[in-house]
Amino acid sequence: MKNSSREFRIDGHKVKTLAQKYSTPIYCYSLKKIKTKLNNFKKNFKKINPLICFSVKSNSNKFLLKEIGKLGLGADVVSIGELVRALNSGIKPNQIVFSGVGKTVNEIDYAIRKKILLINAESKSEILEIEKIAKYQKKIVNIGIRLNPNIDAETLNQISTGKKENKFGVLEKTFINLVNYSKKSKNLNLRCLSVHIGSQILNVKPYQKMLNVLEKIIKKTNYHFEYIDLGGGMGIDYKNNNKELDLKKYSFLIKKFQIKNTSKIIFEPGRSIIGNSGFLISKIIYIKEGHKKDFIILDAAMNDFMRPALYKATHRIIPAQKKNNKTRKIYEFVGPICESTDKFLTTKNFQKLNEKDLIIICDVGAYGMSLSSNYNLRPKVMELLIKNSEVKIISKRQTLNDLI
Ligand SMILES: *Cc1c(COP(=O)(O)O)cnc(C)c1O
Repeated sequence: MKNSSREFRIDGHKVKTLAQKYSTPIYCYSLKKIKTKLNNFKKNFKKINPLICFSVKSNSNKFLLKEIGKLGLGADVVSIGELVRALNSGIKPNQIVFSGVGKTVNEIDYAIRKKILLINAESKSEILEIEKIAKYQKKIVNIGIRLNPNIDAETLNQISTGKKENKFGVLEKTFINLVNYSKKSKNLNLRCLSVHIGSQILNVKPYQKMLNVLEKIIKKTNYHFEYIDLGGGMGIDYKNNNKELDLKKYSFLIKKFQIKNTSKIIFEPGRSIIGNSGFLISKIIYIKEGHKKDFIILDAAMNDFMRPALYKATHRIIPAQKKNNKTRKIYEFVGPICESTDKFLTTKNFQKLNEKDLIIICDVGAYGMSLSSNYNLRPKVMELLIKNSEVKIISKRQTLNDLI
């Protein structure tokens, strides 16, 4: 990511060259950046020695999962599709946890047959269903129960999951009842308490509250959980101002928690591993004068990258080539889709751009491609992985034929 020259490069590869060779839009990931992030994550949590299960929904590219598996991570999956993909990518079943409020009979049946580490149940009905299927298969199934700790994660409302009004997990009273129920079951082996309070959490305080709640509840249940699955949600820097969750502080809090609870810790990070590693390269189709601003109409749109439209998320946009020109403009970066929410960013003080110039939307590694769709019957874009000197196509651009 050194960019001393005026041409933006991703690990030494000029964005302009990539665009010329592969056309645009392109999702481009840096393996180096993923490794740096992961090593930093591991280093900060070293004393806790957690099992790290990568959240597949943040980025489900097959090749990326393979690389992530090679780096020793397990997987957190939320559908049978993700489960099959994780297994096919070489991730071991005993390092896979299955989350989600609506697992179907088919999904539970498959997960049991594959002997994954944990099915984290989120309701009484689900536990009964798991028990029924386990009985039918004549098996004892490892489960977790997801607690809704009623904590405000102080993040965007749309990605908050741990408040009592949210659909995720079960509230304290139900939790205790379900622990007692599971203890007596012949086909359930309750091994884990799981929580996940939200995403893009920048402050350790919600985590601190969460750990306090866990401590109290564990005491009340009087049960030894072999695993405590703390979920993911660690927030990253989207503004290039070094404001991200202080993992060291979080680690310190968990270490303190572990004095009373000897359970093994599981994490399910997605964004904090892969978010900063992705770049969306896009070309300007047209520039159109608007009211007090100009519209930069890109060849990438909300179907390719949905976070701004879905969550009002802000992502930095940078030009692929810096120019000497001192003129500064007010631009709104938009896609070609027939929706007013199809816009990425409005910004003052941008260098003057021209039609056919390339721009880069930053930090799109998580919830980028995995949230993309064919809306407006637009083909899915290509994904590239930069692996040192190698540029690898890790998913092909869909063609018109693929769509029609
Ligand atoms: C989405 C999700 C995660 C990953 O969240 P990040 O913010 O990407 O770390 C982890 N666990 C569960 C249960 C999730 O739903």
